[in-house]
Amino acid sequence: MENEPLLMIPGPVPVPEKVRMAMLRQAINHRGPEFGSIYAESVRVLKDLFHTGNELFILSGSGTAAMEAAIGNFGRDRRIVSLVNGKFGERMGKIGQRYGDVTVIQSDWGAPLDLEGLERALEEGAELVTLVHNETSSGIKNPAAAVGKLTRKHGALFVMDGITSIGGDLVDVDAWGVDVAFVGSQKCLAAPPGLSAVSVSKKAWERLSEKRPYYLDLAAYRKSAANSPMETPYTPAVPLFLALREALAIVEREGLEKRIGRHRRLAEAVRAAVAAWGLPMFPRLDPLHEYSNTVTAVAIPDGVNEKVLRATVKGFGIEIAGGQDQLKGRIFRIGHMGAVSAPEILATISAVEFALGKAGWKTRESGVSAACRVLG
Ligand SMILES: *Cc1c(COP(=O)(O)O)cnc(C)c1O
Repeated sequence: MENEPLLMIPGPVPVPEKVRMAMLRQAINHRGPEFGSIYAESVRVLKDLFHTGNELFILSGSGTAAMEAAIGNFGRDRRIVSLVNGKFGERMGKIGQRYGDVTVIQSDWGAPLDLEGLERALEEGAELVTLVHNETSSGIKNPAAAVGKLTRKHGALFVMDGITSIGGDLVDVDAWGVDVAFVGSQKCLAAPPGLSAVSVSKKAWERLSEKRPYYLDLAAYRKSAANSPMETPYTPAVPLFLALREALAIVEREGLEKRIGRHRRLAEAVRAAVAAWGLPMFPRLDPLHEYSNTVTAVAIPDGVNEKVLRATVKGFGIEIAGGQDQLKGRIFRIGHMGAVSAPEILATISAVEFALGKAGWKTRESGVSAACRVLG
């Protein structure tokens, strides 16, 4: 039998069969009532996951399209401050440079953000702050509520990437004062890649840039969404919308609280295994920062061959991720987001445990037993 590899990477993640099957239908008119109700229904569930009463739109484009929509619509010629402790924070800064005037507040990847630096930048007149809530590249969860508080105090706009937290961990857009938040379809929502969703606050609309991207013009999305039936400005990726609606029905049936609880337990199990192996976690924490509950980044000690590690795991039909850019060869990452639970986690931990031995690491104790104690 030819099995698909089990994707335990931080997106894309395995997609439940019902969600995949939803894409096989004959084409439907994207200006008709059926599409309108699929869009409206998806927006309703997504607003729950974002914890927001703000307007929300679904874009035909991956997470990066949502990043660009956020900055392109609200950051043009503005003073932007980007908090960076990983690749996606850096990407927000790079997008910002295409549209506005960016100050990067740089931390080492996986290290705490410099909130004093943020406060100084805000005092000096920064108008828009970008934050990646769950920095997938380095496995650290950043203090979104604290960043929101500072940003609000100074009257700036708060743009937050919730791509690998929304739908898998607690995100409270309204309580945290996030003006523009977004998620991608292929991470915690366990849908196929290619869609993203963006929420926009009233304060953000009041500061909508005059000159905006054409394809990602959120004012155009807003106008079309107000039509009856609800629409998108241009032809959307209809099969992906069908899949997303099915994925969101699964999310709703599980219930958000239970879903977040499941992600936390899986994360705890993986961290327990890492501790048992005697390996260091990659992120460096302080009281405000936490380990991610959707992806675990593990530091690779000297003498351990990362290529052998991942290749051995792959030999068992399981894919884990390495590090990106400067972290290549220095970390490995296990994604635990979406539709996975104990069977996938235990299989992954078993494979990694064996592979660590092949790659040159002598594990202290059994990570499998440690994870079983958390999950049992
Ligand atoms: C995956 C990811 C992105 C980029 O999304 P694409 O879907 O690859 O465009 C952005 N931010 C974070 C935190 C991510 O994990």
